[in-house]
Amino acid sequence: MTTNAEMTERRVAAIPTGLSRHLDVFIDRAENAELWDIEGNRYIDFASGIAVTNTGHRHPKVLAAVREQLDQVTHTSFQTTPYANYVQVCERLNRLVPGDFPKKTYLVSTGAEAIENAVKIARAATGRSAFIAFAGAFHGRTLMATTLTGKTVPYKHGFGPMVPDVFHVPFPNAYHGVTVDQSLAALDVLFKTDLHPSRVAGIVVEPVQGEGGFNPAPAEFLQALRRICDEHGILLIVDEIQTGFARTGQMFAIEHAGIAADLMTLAKGLGGGFPIAAVTGRLDVMEKIPAAGVGGTFAGSPLSCAAALAVLDVIEEEGLVARAAQIGERLTETLRGWQRSNAFACVGDVRSLGSMVAMELSHDRDPKRPWPELTKLLTQKAAQHGLVLLSCGTYGNVIRVLAPLTIPDEILNEGIAALERALREA
Ligand code: PLP
Repeated sequence: MTTNAEMTERRVAAIPTGLSRHLDVFIDRAENAELWDIEGNRYIDFASGIAVTNTGHRHPKVLAAVREQLDQVTHTSFQTTPYANYVQVCERLNRLVPGDFPKKTYLVSTGAEAIENAVKIARAATGRSAFIAFAGAFHGRTLMATTLTGKTVPYKHGFGPMVPDVFHVPFPNAYHGVTVDQSLAALDVLFKTDLHPSRVAGIVVEPVQGEGGFNPAPAEFLQALRRICDEHGILLIVDEIQTGFARTGQMFAIEHAGIAADLMTLAKGLGGGFPIAAVTGRLDVMEKIPAAGVGGTFAGSPLSCAAALAVLDVIEEEGLVARAAQIGERLTETLRGWQRSNAFACVGDVRSLGSMVAMELSHDRDPKRPWPELTKLLTQKAAQHGLVLLSCGTYGNVIRVLAPLTIPDEILNEGIAALERALREA
C-alpha cells in the first residue's frame, strides 16, 4: 500500500513548493460529505473542495448525467461545433441570476477566467479602463485576477508589475473596526483625488469575502455600491464564485441585499466537481463584446454542462437553499457558544452568511493580535480527528466551514464534535 508519507515525498520532489500545500493526506475516495485517504482513514469534509461540492461528492444524479454524457460526446469545442447542453446551462443561469431584465451568459472553465472575462466585457461595454476592488478581496490567480485581489503576500509578491488602473479601498469589517461609512468615505476620497469616476469601468466585489476571511458585506454596503455604480455609469461586477449556488442560504448571496449585478462571475459550485464557470450579465452589456472576442477551447465542455444541469436540479429538488440556512444556523450557534465560553478565549469573532461560517482566532479575542499559528495547528489536529477544515483571512487566522449542503445531520454533528475536540487540544 502506498502511504501518505510516501506520496508526500513524491509530491515534494515532483511539484514546486509554490503550489500551496495544506494537508499531507491523499484522497482516494469520496462520498457525499466524507472522504477516505489512500491509507483508508476517513474524514468529514468541511471544505467541499473549496466551496465546490455544494451538492456533495459524487451526487448520484450528477454522476448519472455525466455517465450518460460520456456515451454521447465529450468534446467538440462549443465555438466550432456547438451542442445543446451548453445553451441549456446559459438559459438556466439567465433565469436564475437576480435581476428583472434580459441577460446573457457564456461559459469558461475557472473562476479566475470568469473574472478576466468580466473585466474585458466591462472595458468593451464602457470604453473605460479603471477598476475598483477591495482590500481583502480574492479573485483568482491569473494576472488581472491577482491584481484585483487585495493581499500582496502570497498572491502578488514576486509576480509584479500588476495590471495598471486597479484601485483598492477598504472593505467593511466590524471586528476590525472598519465601518460601511468608512469604506464609502474612502471610495469618495478616491473619486475626488486619484480616480475620476468617469474613468471607472467596474467595481468588483465579493458579497462575502471568501479567502479574505469570510467577511459578509453588509446589505447597505452592497446597496450603496449599486447606487454609486448607477450614478456614475460604472458596472457592478459581483463575484459569486465562492458564494453562489445556495451556499449562503440564497441561490446567490446578493439576494440578501436585494440588488442585481450588471455582471456576475460564477464557478465552483456550478459543476459540483466538474470544471465550469460562467459570466452572466445584462444583455445590453454582454452584446458589447467584440465579435469572436471571447471563448476558450475547453470552455463549457459537454461533460461539465451535463454536471451543471444536474447540480441545478439537485439544488432545487433537495431544497439546498433552505438547508444551507439550517446548516449555517446550527454552526453559527455552536461557534458563538464557544466564543462566549471562557475555555475558548482564542475565538475572537464568529461571522457567517448561511452556511459560510467562520471563526477568527486571536490572542485574548483582540483583533489586533491575530493567531495564525493556532489556526494552522487546529487544522492539523482536526485532520487527526478525521475532519478536513480550511483556513482563510488576511492573516490566515480564520477557520472557515464549507460543508456540503447535502451533509446529513449526524455527520454535521460529528464534524462539529471533531472541531471542538481539535480546538480544545490545539
Ligand atoms: N473568486 C473568488 C471569490 C474565489 O473564492 C475564487 C477561488 O477561491 C476565485 C475567484 C478563483 O477561482 P478559481 O480558483 O476557479 O480560478
